[in-house]
Amino acid sequence: MISTPASKKFICAPCDASPDDDDDDDDGSVTHDSYYDVVVCGAGAAGASFARTFAETTSKLCDENERVDASSTPARRVLLLDRAGCAKTVERVERVTRRASVYGARVEALGRFRALGVATASREVAACDAEKKTVTLDDGRVVRYGALCVATGASPRCPLPETCDGRGVDVYAARDVESAEALARRVRASARASASTCSRRIALVGNGGIALELVDALCGRGLAVEGLESCELVWLVKHAAVGDAFFDVDVADFLARALELRRRGGGGDDDDDKTRERGGVDWEALARSSSSAKDGTKRRRVGAAAGPEWATRFRAEVEDARGTGRRRMRLRVVKNVEIRDAVKTPEGANALTLTDGETIEVDAVVAAAGVEPRCEWLDERDAPRSTIDGGVLVDECMRVLGRRNDSIFAIGDACSMERRASAVDAPWFQMRLWSQAAQTGAFAAKVAAGACDGDALGFNFELFTHCTTFFGLKVILLGLYNAQKLESEPANDVVTYQRESLSQNPEACQYVRVLLLRGRMMGAVLVGETDLEETFENLILDGVDLSRFGPHLLDPDVDLEDYFD
Ligand SMILES: Cc1cc2nc3c(=O)[nH]c(=O)nc-3n(C[C@H](O)[C@H](O)[C@H](O)COP(=O)(O)OP(=O)(O)OC[C@H]3O[C@@H](n4cnc5c(N)ncnc54)[C@H](O)[C@@H]3O)c2cc1C
Repeated sequence: MISTPASKKFICAPCDASPDDDDDDDDGSVTHDSYYDVVVCGAGAAGASFARTFAETTSKLCDENERVDASSTPARRVLLLDRAGCAKTVERVERVTRRASVYGARVEALGRFRALGVATASREVAACDAEKKTVTLDDGRVVRYGALCVATGASPRCPLPETCDGRGVDVYAARDVESAEALARRVRASARASASTCSRRIALVGNGGIALELVDALCGRGLAVEGLESCELVWLVKHAAVGDAFFDVDVADFLARALELRRRGGGGDDDDDKTRERGGVDWEALARSSSSAKDGTKRRRVGAAAGPEWATRFRAEVEDARGTGRRRMRLRVVKNVEIRDAVKTPEGANALTLTDGETIEVDAVVAAAGVEPRCEWLDERDAPRSTIDGGVLVDECMRVLGRRNDSIFAIGDACSMERRASAVDAPWFQMRLWSQAAQTGAFAAKVAAGACDGDALGFNFELFTHCTTFFGLKVILLGLYNAQKLESEPANDVVTYQRESLSQNPEACQYVRVLLLRGRMMGAVLVGETDLEETFENLILDGVDLSRFGPHLLDPDVDLEDYFD
């Protein structure tokens, strides 16, 4: 269930990517009671990938069949629905290893899919009758389907507790480009107001990659916006350490120290120094707070990270054309707290009462505390949900578990791949990312088209990989890098080795950590230009026993490539 009541609506600008080219989508041709072989609900990374792959695969199969038998079955009809009227296509920007790539997401008009023979409609799916195999659109039209694909993604988790009214409280989310822009406009307005009147404050709730990116942009690297230095970012963290929801504490600690070193290296930057005096981020303190969480507890599940493109767009939107020099917000980190109550004051401020008893008044609350799958239009009896993350549970073919297994697929952020994620022999787990959304979409489409079955799952989801950038440094995560799924292994069987080099030159900053289970590499974290990703990917997949190396495994003079096929 989405925990954001109407009174706590996130502020989000409408999608601006579509309207120009041929986007008066064929709503008109989607008539009441029309039938489609497949109806795809949601055209994000997952749904767009499904629609494209399904159209291409079925058209290829048709061509092949026609060559054999001219009277063979015609191409199957697909309908792609999205309430925002645009589609997000994930593209590989750079291939890093055989399985790891850097991805970006391109937004395009939904109508573009018509060139592939896919019907489209900019409508919201309001309800589904899985017995009759129909979906009802928000304008009352009913569409019949042979198979349904649930790709409606996830929503940012509301940081206000369900017990509080929260009516009128300004909660902003960092979900996508549009919401990032809306947030950027809010930050700019606060900075301007601060420059002309009094100091302003914004609360940030969350402790994952998105929160880290925001803190970096607003308080770390800074932005050319007048008045920003008079604003305060109050970072509300429910854990005892920052970055805890995404990183392992060691990696967070390294990144924080690397950033501090680089900042110190920029001694000639007057503006940087001035801002530090005014109370820019104390990255050393952040590093210390991360380190202090080394309490030996098991590492936890991770969440999605804010990507560089998202952060770039946010920065561009905040920055003032007239702004000169980088300015930074003051940062106050409040750990071990959550919001207990939130009200709009008669003066128009948002008053937050924290669980430690403090009350603060802020211009806005930024929700960066993870996401919740968004499928409230689908009955749980037809698509059972995960008790862990609320996603629609799927089998090895991306079909929903239970009585609608033959007719409903779920993909991307909306689904929960608990079965695959719990397979002990696979160094793979689910993280809500573009790459996984696109992969689940393409795989489910091939299953729906009859081009592959569950046996192909292993190949598609055999190794977890993620390539991203944090604080300007390349970060590659491979396999069970954070000991995911290894909680029940005897502690003595799990060994980690790490090495690091810190330098004011970002190109010379490196952090490498490998995790071995009974001598076999299960995962690795690579920060900076290590050039080890290909080798480590092969070592993880080959399962070579590396016990004899001990810590020398990370010795740059050892040529590991000699030890695998
Ligand atoms: C700020 C941020 C930064 C991120 N950065 C990265 C990154 O750098 N790298 C990375 O790999 N991942 C990143 N992610 C995660 C990634 O964006 C998601 O995992 C991915 O987009 C999920 O794709 P999806 O298609 O499942 O869902 P979505 O992209 O959310 O798409 C769902 C679609 O369904 C539509 N929809 C919803 N409800 C309905 C309805 N009832 N009827 C019709 N249409 C509906 C929506 O309009 C939307 O277009 C980031 C996430 C966030 C929030």
